[in-house]
Amino acid sequence: MPTPENRALETLKAAGVVAAPVDVEVVAKQMGCKVMFQALKSDLSGLLVNQPGNCLIGVNSHQSKTRQRFTIAHELGHFLLQHKGEMFVDGTVLRRDENSSRATDPQEIEANRFAAALLMPAEWVYAKLTENRKQSPNGSVEEVTSALASQFDVSSQAMSIRLANLGCLIPD
Ligand SMILES: [Zn+2]
Repeated sequence: MPTPENRALETLKAAGVVAAPVDVEVVAKQMGCKVMFQALKSDLSGLLVNQPGNCLIGVNSHQSKTRQRFTIAHELGHFLLQHKGEMFVDGTVLRRDENSSRATDPQEIEANRFAAALLMPAEWVYAKLTENRKQSPNGSVEEVTSALASQFDVSSQAMSIRLANLGCLIPD
């Protein structure tokens, strides 16, 4: 099995996505999943029904747009990484940091890694970071993170974790 990061890159390639922001709903559909938006309980982010010939991703429509995008990517990760189980239910408590250093279930950690890499591919993040640094050399960490977050259509929190995981220490 490829790493979650590599699987995410393969998925983008297969879907023909070459630039941020990734239209994750379109990617999920291209990978054969149905995506449904529904008002779920507030402590739920989303779920995946994973049966032979049937991939259904449910997203809590009450959550923020960026959260919904991360949820779709996370559920798609469970599906494409061939995680065992017919049903995955993901809550906000389990992955409140969106990259789940706190989650202990290896499948949840993998799905989060996949999601981060799908929405924020490392090479694209490096390129945008360099670009940003050129344009606003005096931008604070918060400003740069927020600019990148909006370019990738993810939350500032998710981008901040991604930057840290990629070893991009932004001197202030
Ligand atoms: Zn999950």
